Amino acid sequence: MLRTAIAALLLGMMTTSSLEARWLKGNTHTHTLRSDGDAEPEAVVRWYREHGYDFLVITDHDKITTLDGGGMLLIPGEEVTDKLPKKPLHLCALGLKSVVTPQGGATPVEVLQHDIDAVREAGGIPVINHPNFYWAFGAEELGQLKNVSMVEIASGHPLVNMDGPPSVESMWDVLLTNGKRVYGVGVDDAHHYGLEPPKGELLARPGQAWIVVRAEKAEQAAILAAMERGDFYASTGPSIETYDVTPEMIALTIKQTYQNRYRVQFVSRGKVLQETVGTSATYRIRGDEGYVRAKVLDSNGKAAWMQPVFAAVKQ
Ligand SMILES: [Zn+2]
Ligand SMILES: [Zn+2]
Repeated sequence: MLRTAIAALLLGMMTTSSLEARWLKGNTHTHTLRSDGDAEPEAVVRWYREHGYDFLVITDHDKITTLDGGGMLLIPGEEVTDKLPKKPLHLCALGLKSVVTPQGGATPVEVLQHDIDAVREAGGIPVINHPNFYWAFGAEELGQLKNVSMVEIASGHPLVNMDGPPSVESMWDVLLTNGKRVYGVGVDDAHHYGLEPPKGELLARPGQAWIVVRAEKAEQAAILAAMERGDFYASTGPSIETYDVTPEMIALTIKQTYQNRYRVQFVSRGKVLQETVGTSATYRIRGDEGYVRAKVLDSNGKAAWMQPVFAAVKQ
């Protein structure tokens, strides 16, 4: 007990951020047998609970699937599944109070905006899903949407063309360069929990991409508020140990796993301004970048994406 307290104290001296709030791992895009997943909701929840997740949003198509999380925090959600001919237009709604039916519209922007508005009306937080699924829409459409601050930039689904061209990450940079405050989310979009692959189908497995949220409490309201203010990161592998942002700098340290080597890129307006090799990196903010975001790449093709820091222009 005492040893823990001393360790916590020492940790506190080294980094203030790690003690102010806790990092909570979660997945915000999940399917079960209630829509087109292959497992019962209970089995899906068990998978995430047994793999160290702190929270889960089940997002079956056009319905809210509720059940007892058995010790894991479940946030109610839905994948609002709208479309135009040959264009799937989907968004996840987190923390919904009531089901949202797809609202429709004449253009991708109109459809997505109607659905965003309906999600907000129902008390939920919208996240725009997989723009490159069927190459349905891109940065131009995303730039016209209002009252939405999150887009999927990493996905475990094998058919959503995240890497483009154009990659969804590059669309994110276009939005940020144009002054939009948008945060990037990593999700599983998991459908397949079984051992047997469905015939002729590529598997959308759980545990591929996730977010880690820095929230004051392991509660729905605190987690969703942290997401809305961009206090989280997306990852397909790397874990962040400490992350500190001041008006002068962005500093982070990475948790070493296996024999991975790490590169940290600081990106602004789609360009890498600085690359640091190692498990820690610091970027000094000049003040004219517009925004800077850190990206961690490991030596096995996995990555973590920190949210953009909007640089105040220094006098
Ligand atoms: Zn979808
Ligand atoms: Zn989905």
